[in-house]
Amino acid sequence: MFKALLPGSFDPPTLGHLSLIARAAKLCNVLVIGIGKNEGKKNTLLTIEERMHILRKYTEHLSNIEIENFSGLTIEFARKVSAKVIIRGLRSSQDLEFEREMAEANRKLSGLETIFLIAGGETTQLSSSLIRELAKNKGSLSAFIPHELEKILWERMQTRSE
Ligand code: ADP
Repeated sequence: MFKALLPGSFDPPTLGHLSLIARAAKLCNVLVIGIGKNEGKKNTLLTIEERMHILRKYTEHLSNIEIENFSGLTIEFARKVSAKVIIRGLRSSQDLEFEREMAEANRKLSGLETIFLIAGGETTQLSSSLIRELAKNKGSLSAFIPHELEKILWERMQTRSE
C-alpha cells in the first residue's frame, strides 16, 4: 500500500490544486490531502471545514483520496497517517527555493522524501494569494477556482470590506 501525503493550506483551493491532486492521485494507492492549520494565521479566508467541503466535493470522482486537517509539523502528520512520501507542486523558481529547504529539512528530520510535480498547463501561475487579491478587488474568479467557491468568496470579501 503506497500512501502519499499532499500537504497545503488550500486557502482557498484553486483549479491548480485540483489539477495537482488529480496527477498525484495517479501515483499512489492512497493520497491523503492534509489541510494544514496555521495557528499563527488568524486571518484565513476560508474555515478548515469550508476548505474540506470544497476539496471533498471536487475530488469525489477520484477513488483514492482521504482529506484530513492537521496542525504542527508535516512530518509528524505524515508519520501519523503512515504516508511514505510527501508530494508538492512546483510552479516557479521561487517555489523551488522554498521547497528545497523544506524538503531537505524534512528528509533530515524524518527520512521522508518529497516528490515534486512540475505545474503545467493553464493553471501554472495560479496561487491562493492571487485568488485572494482578485476577490478583494472584485476581479473575475471563474477561470481559477471551483464553481461553488466563487459565490462563497464574493460574499466573504464583501462582508470583509464593509
Ligand atoms: P502552502 O501554503 O503549504 O504552500 P498551498 O495551498 O499554497 O500550500 O499549496 C499546496 C500545494 O499545492 C503546494 O505544493 C503548491 O506548490 C501546490 N500548488 C498550488 N498552486 C498550484 C498550481 N497552480 N499548480 C500546481 N501546484 C500548485
